Amino acid sequence: MATRTVTVQRPAPMDAPQGVVRSGAAVLKGMWIASRHFWRNFWGFVRGKPTVFTVQYPEERLQQPPAFRGMPVLVQMENGKERCVACGLCEWACPTDCITIYPAETDDEIERYPRVFDIDMSRCMFCGLCEEACPEEAIVMSHRVEIAAFSRRGTVWHKEDLLVPLRELETTRFPHIRRTYESPAAE
Ligand code: SF4
Ligand code: SF4
Repeated sequence: MATRTVTVQRPAPMDAPQGVVRSGAAVLKGMWIASRHFWRNFWGFVRGKPTVFTVQYPEERLQQPPAFRGMPVLVQMENGKERCVACGLCEWACPTDCITIYPAETDDEIERYPRVFDIDMSRCMFCGLCEEACPEEAIVMSHRVEIAAFSRRGTVWHKEDLLVPLRELETTRFPHIRRTYESPAAE
């Protein structure tokens, strides 16, 4: 097999003074670029025409798009009760097993309800499969993202914490999921 030899021309190693000069020049160039951006942005800020896109969170917040998936929440109906009928489909669909449901019977029109409905948010990966599996539109991905906790126990959200009034979700998430999943409830 024919071989080909390539001779690489490497620059001669720099001596110490030359290295110091080149390194110093590189540092100065970096500082000049950083300060140029700083003063340009600062001048834009002073003039009221910012040249950078910075959100001053938490004072400023972005409007989330309808497809945004924050933490999953439970829909609370007008009568104050959960819409969930404790069928367990979301629990089954959840790939991280972070949903725990204990169903119970009731005499209401909805015969079953979740006596316990917990989501361990430290394990949730915001995939939205629970929302997709639910036949009742009872669990939906909200726009909530402020869910940090100081302990492992604090990452477990209980039913009372997960309930969000229907009217809050009607204008944000529901139009999107009905369009996406073609739910009969949209008809
Ligand atoms: S969003 Fe995904 S990981 Fe989180 S509770 Fe729903 S199915 Fe589980
Ligand atoms: S799939 Fe829907 S109705 Fe069934 S248990 Fe989950 S939230 Fe409740």
